[in-house]
Amino acid sequence: MLRVAIDGPGGTGKSTIAKAIAERFEIEYIDTGAMYRALGLKASKLCIDPDDEAAVKAMLDDTVIDFDSGRTMLDGEDVSGLIRTNEISMAASNYSKLAIVRAKVDEVSRHLAATKDVVMEGRDIGTTVIPDAEVKIFMTASPEIRARRRYNQLIEQGRDADYDTIYKEIQERDYQDSHREVSPLRQADDAAFLDSSDMTLEESIDAVAELVAAAL
Ligand code: C5P
Repeated sequence: MLRVAIDGPGGTGKSTIAKAIAERFEIEYIDTGAMYRALGLKASKLCIDPDDEAAVKAMLDDTVIDFDSGRTMLDGEDVSGLIRTNEISMAASNYSKLAIVRAKVDEVSRHLAATKDVVMEGRDIGTTVIPDAEVKIFMTASPEIRARRRYNQLIEQGRDADYDTIYKEIQERDYQDSHREVSPLRQADDAAFLDSSDMTLEESIDAVAELVAAAL
């Protein structure tokens, strides 16, 4: 059984690296952040107050999240394109602090990892979701570099981007994700630490691939 857990704050290149690892080792890629984003999208569309636990619970009981060929499915609808905005990043973070929301995503995540080899990325995979994963990595990079990478990515996609806004959002989310009570973002004691600030994407992929190969 091979389960690779990659955790870290936003903008470290986790998703790109995890996808490359999935391809290289022919295992499934699971993006847990996409599930929090999908729930954040639905909750904000329904104007559900994160402090109204009964309303959040009612929504969760009536929600199905799944992946279909890499697409994020919310109640049968492909929301992959809708969940990648700054607004939804913050919504995901706002609702992900709730234990009932986390329980829902954990259940889907563990179910997906129960029967196949996976590389799963998020904030609490190595600490909470799969604490006994065969490979555990905590990735980071300085907030300035993460903001610059995100800015360049948006510009390359021909989208509007403002560096200062992105930088502020990254800091806000880092703070909120690492200070919440339930499963905060933190490095698991037995996770390898990787700071990609001065590394190219290829170098980061190779560093993670080496750890995976060593575990095999
Ligand atoms: O990784 P991504 O930026 O898509 O995650 C969006 C948000 O979802 C994070 O800021 C965090 O609040 C939440 N998240 C989480 N636990 C995870 C994955 C994501 O709390 N395992």
